[in-house]
Amino acid sequence: MPEMPSLGDSSPKKSPLVPVAIAAVIFSTVVGGGYWFTHRTSSPEPVAPAVTTTEFADAGAAVAETLHDGGVTPTAAAVPSSTPAAENKTGLKTLAVTINGPLESAIVSSAGKDVGTALTQVVNRSLVWWLRVPQDLVKGDTLAVVYETREGQEPLVHAVRFTSRKLGKTLEAWRFAPKEGAFARFFQTDGSELEERLVDSPLDNWEQITSLLRDGRKHKGVDFKTPVGTPVKATFDGTITRRNWNFRGNGNSIEVQESGGQGRTAMYLHLSELPKGSALPGQKVKKGEVLAKSGNTGHSFAPHLHYQLMKGETVLDPFASHATTRAQLPAADKVAFEAQVAKLKALMPPETAAGG
Ligand SMILES: [Zn+2]
Repeated sequence: MPEMPSLGDSSPKKSPLVPVAIAAVIFSTVVGGGYWFTHRTSSPEPVAPAVTTTEFADAGAAVAETLHDGGVTPTAAAVPSSTPAAENKTGLKTLAVTINGPLESAIVSSAGKDVGTALTQVVNRSLVWWLRVPQDLVKGDTLAVVYETREGQEPLVHAVRFTSRKLGKTLEAWRFAPKEGAFARFFQTDGSELEERLVDSPLDNWEQITSLLRDGRKHKGVDFKTPVGTPVKATFDGTITRRNWNFRGNGNSIEVQESGGQGRTAMYLHLSELPKGSALPGQKVKKGEVLAKSGNTGHSFAPHLHYQLMKGETVLDPFASHATTRAQLPAADKVAFEAQVAKLKALMPPETAAGG
């Protein structure tokens, strides 16, 4: 099964390949090359049903990251829908597939292997807010994606439409840049943000969550893609217990033990350099207090914050342990958002194709 990427991933490993018969429909031609992921996906296999990635040793021996392959055996070929499509004038590409096996196989069959592997990871960041991937994927589900390829970077997804037979509905997410706010984000058609937000979040703002505990990767933290220098806040009152441990993997890092409450431990990894004399073990911190700036240190390949919650040796899901909210698109953005949705919808195949 395909996995959500972590910005800290390294050493990709291929799962054993399962022969699959792919009827590929390439909707778009890819111009240019030099994709950032080429080095990760340069093996000659025609189809990789799963890309298993190692997670860096984030948080010390007690919580050593483990390899896994998602536990799902690919069983069937992906048969893309036969809707022909082409790159449109804007440079945006459209992919529309019916899922009959691993999601990645379906996407690769349409987008090609070089783009498809990375695109699967990016698409997964949306799907995971709606359902469990791959457990909840059912044969006959359909996926449409509007995306663009970018030299030296992962593909940029503008729209995702997924029709889930399990959920019995069609889910849509649209990338849109609100007037206020640093980042374009994904919103659902009703204007609600796709990503949930943590109450007492370690970050006030970030670009995208690229890894969640429930994405099945056995990654122990939530990865927030965010530029270096984003203020990182304590998520509860507590005491700093460790700093810069396991430095090679974690980079600059801070651990805070919660005072009272649930007795949790929070780990903040890959931070920017910690000023001398700050964030020292024994120091008390208050919820909301800025602990450090986010960074890209240790085993991290792109600026992000790895936020991990533990209780003793047990890894907690921050999206279960924290209260959560879902933001709504500001009213001032409604007209522009709807125009953007209409534009992207026009690039997608008719919805009647969905549902198989
Ligand atoms: Zn992480």
